[in-house]
Amino acid sequence: MDPGKVSPDRAQTCLHVFLSGLAQGCFAAENRSLELSEFLMSLLHSIQQGASRNGLNLFGLVDAKRFDSCQPREHRTDAVQPDCGTVMVLGTAGRSLWGDFQRQGRQIPQSMTDNQVDELAVAGATAVITDLWQHGVRGQLVDARRPRINFGQLAEAAGFGIVSPVSGLLLHPEFGPWVRVRAAVLLPGQPFGAIADASITDRFRPCCSCLKPCIAACPSAVHDGMGNSDRGRCADSRHHGSCEMGCYSRMACPVGAEHADQGGPMLHAHSVGRRTMQRWFGFGWWRMVPRMFRGGPRA
Ligand code: SF4
Ligand code: SF4
Repeated sequence: MDPGKVSPDRAQTCLHVFLSGLAQGCFAAENRSLELSEFLMSLLHSIQQGASRNGLNLFGLVDAKRFDSCQPREHRTDAVQPDCGTVMVLGTAGRSLWGDFQRQGRQIPQSMTDNQVDELAVAGATAVITDLWQHGVRGQLVDARRPRINFGQLAEAAGFGIVSPVSGLLLHPEFGPWVRVRAAVLLPGQPFGAIADASITDRFRPCCSCLKPCIAACPSAVHDGMGNSDRGRCADSRHHGSCEMGCYSRMACPVGAEHADQGGPMLHAHSVGRRTMQRWFGFGWWRMVPRMFRGGPRA
């Protein structure tokens, strides 16, 4: 077993010791809070390592109430899970991810479609939920391909970077646009204690000093350069076969360019897979399905 991993037995034993101690009042208050805090951090570290083993190398926690306080009612976490107090945000970053994945003994097919990559990522998020459950924490998965909350703003709140005010791309300080938010896990209460604000949007603003090559690079003029992107037009373009090798706006961005996909399956060539875009915007046979059933982002 990984030395940083907390086994289910140990977790249960620790919880039992704490609950007994609390019941008997036999811990000094400060010792009790110190040990509980150490235990929670150890558990969190273990969950994060498990996520990383499943390829999810972007990991963050968000205080649900703080997040909800600046969201429209229908986009709030409590509209999905009323007792949600913590959001665990899971994503992937950079092409080195495949190497890490294989070093841990995981096999990946030689070639994968972007849809298969999406499925692999969500399987990883499901494994995180199982891991949490084994430690007595119940979580609800929200797949970013069916975004019932605003995943761009959730990524910002988790400290993953900033949503570009120019192109709408999520930009990470190290990986640039070569990242994808894959899923969120909604947890009841605050099983890992209070969560500090991790956002870096007040100090990471790469677009302010950039010549904005992302605008001209898009063959379909999806971005107006003032922060508005016509994603329906992007979906139309991709449905008709454009940008198969990746989003040109993304490739033009200088931030984190060394982490771009190169050889092997495409991990971060687009913010959203082609099939998902077709579903969201009603292309192909999805045109027969009413919008409310297509699971796209809420306007
Ligand atoms: S995928 Fe293609 S059409 Fe869509 S924003 Fe990128 S470059 Fe433009
Ligand atoms: S190319 Fe420049 S303006 Fe466009 S997203 Fe990247 S940093 Fe921002």
